[in-house]
Amino acid sequence: MKLWRFNGGLPSLAEHKNESVHLPIETAPVPKQLIYPLGQHIGSPAKPLVKIGDKVLRGQKIANAQGAISAPIHAGSSGTVVSIADHLIPHPSGFSAPSITIQTDGQDNSIEFKPQPDFRQLPATELVQLIRDAGLVGLGGAAFPTAVKLNTQNKDTPIDTLILNGAECEPYISCDDRLLKERAHHVVEGIEILLYITGAKRAILAVEDNIPDTFTSIQQAVAQNGNGAICAVQIPTIYPTGGEKQLIQTLTGKEVPSGNIPADIGIVSTNVGTVYAAQQAIIEGKPLTSRIITVTGEGVKKPHNLEVRIGTPINALIDVCQGYTKHADRLIMGGPMMGFALLNDEIPIVKATNCILVASQQEVITEKQAMPCIRCGLCASACPVSLMPQQLYWYSQSDQLEKAEKLNLFDCIECGCCDVVCPSHIPLVQHFRYAKSALKVQKHEKHLSNIARERFEAREKRIAREKAERAERARKKKAALQKKPAKEEIEAAVSRSKAKKTPLEEKD
Ligand code: SF4
Ligand code: SF4
Repeated sequence: MKLWRFNGGLPSLAEHKNESVHLPIETAPVPKQLIYPLGQHIGSPAKPLVKIGDKVLRGQKIANAQGAISAPIHAGSSGTVVSIADHLIPHPSGFSAPSITIQTDGQDNSIEFKPQPDFRQLPATELVQLIRDAGLVGLGGAAFPTAVKLNTQNKDTPIDTLILNGAECEPYISCDDRLLKERAHHVVEGIEILLYITGAKRAILAVEDNIPDTFTSIQQAVAQNGNGAICAVQIPTIYPTGGEKQLIQTLTGKEVPSGNIPADIGIVSTNVGTVYAAQQAIIEGKPLTSRIITVTGEGVKKPHNLEVRIGTPINALIDVCQGYTKHADRLIMGGPMMGFALLNDEIPIVKATNCILVASQQEVITEKQAMPCIRCGLCASACPVSLMPQQLYWYSQSDQLEKAEKLNLFDCIECGCCDVVCPSHIPLVQHFRYAKSALKVQKHEKHLSNIARERFEAREKRIAREKAERAERARKKKAALQKKPAKEEIEAAVSRSKAKKTPLEEKD
């Protein structure tokens, strides 16, 4: 299969996969508490369906999707709801947010699942609804509700190609690799479900060429289970080839235009973990209550690939890894390039968590003294989105945010390639994150002020209209009082009055 090359990227980034890639998936024990932030996906936060004191079962829906872009949340084990309150969430800001906490009872009793092994008997719309009800979101890190992505029936452009992203390009992370190696048949079955739903003619499952054993497992599963529409492809190991737009370009040569989504060019792309979750949701009838993650880094004694209940606090997983080493310096959710630091280990695993990196000082990009930009252009050469990072940096640090936006700031995938190559050690991504969030705040404030202005104008109009109506009524009343009856009207009134009076003599 012909492959294309996206701009820039880092072909020789240290992978650090050896620490965990050989470790089979183990199941983490059920923790004492499971914590579920209500907003662990893109879109509106879920709305609690339970209250404090309620008993719940594994797989029971505890929070419902709100609105079109949202996802429900399900309990990962049986127990009692002990809190619905703010809890620290995994977010670069270190915020707390509303979360449901379940005290588990050790029984792990579940609801009765409803498997649909013969999924082709159901219409695609029904399968999309089942996927929505199962709470699926993109497990590659984006956490976009999967049902929304798969709801392509009414799109102008028919879906031609399904892309399955197994390109785990971020250093240290090996959970997708292990999933493909150990559960390739389930993934292939999941691909068949997505082909059926989207109506795509072909599916391309891509993995990097640094995992030949896994590629062999996939090829065997495709040969045994696939219906001929699925092909597995090895792609060059270049960071960030697993970025959605970079992978699409590598496999099809097509570029997703700025501000568009892959479906606009007839492509649906999804992470292999999400495909596995879709297989579980449809064939087994199981909602999304667990996922596979990598816990690694020099800061833990024994790295692991673990299947964990979503909601498990990180400290419970550190225990599984036999605790911290003396080198533990920083706790990162995700990898060293695109992940973010966490405040503490009481934060729970959420649907989007693919890795907990307990990094030593040597393992993270050390913050060196930033120096002035020398306009060397290395950052632009490395940018996989063909942006101009030096120019974006200039506008971001001088608060000329609208100019940065015009240079497609929001296309920046925060891959960190520009940071790595910058000889002046400028923390470019930090500036871009700041600029993006400042622009979002500005837009939100503008939106609120527009709403307030529209309300004010509507109120002013209403007051003016009521005033005019009052004046009109008063004018009409006055006019009526001042009006002199016409001579004919007086005569007619007199004669009507006379006609009503009957003379006494006539009665006798
Ligand atoms: S790599 Fe650094 S120094 Fe070179 S142009 Fe970009 S920001 Fe400036
Ligand atoms: S972080 Fe953004 S600007 Fe920098 S290389 Fe990646 S996409 Fe380009």
